[in-house]
Amino acid sequence: MAQTAETKACSVCGLAVAVHMEAWCNACGLIYHLNQRADLPGEDCGQVWINEEHLGLEFACNTCLNPVPEGLDDVLDAGEAALLAGIPEGALHEAAGLGQVRHRRTGSGTLLFRRGDILDFVQGQR
Ligand SMILES: [Zn+2]
Ligand SMILES: [Zn+2]
Repeated sequence: MAQTAETKACSVCGLAVAVHMEAWCNACGLIYHLNQRADLPGEDCGQVWINEEHLGLEFACNTCLNPVPEGLDDVLDAGEAALLAGIPEGALHEAAGLGQVRHRRTGSGTLLFRRGDILDFVQGQR
């Protein structure tokens, strides 16, 4: 089968989008998978719904529906950090108090850690 310039890649999953699956996101303007044929198989990579105000169809891809804040995954509270380090939370508090692990204390006294610092700390313990 010849590849034509018409073959488009989904902005969400990166796979080719068949004609019956083409949809364009209203937010980012990129193409994504949206199965518009109940009789054909296909996984959706976004949604479509009716805007009650304008009674028009609204399209949005999963990337825009579920934005992942960058870097937030790398910030851990004491419980998560202790789990990652494999030590009791109390021991982690102690290590933080002794300055053995980089941390940040919020205004409310909560200890926050960065994933990389915890991994460094674990390495240093070995
Ligand atoms: Zn897709
Ligand atoms: Zn989008």
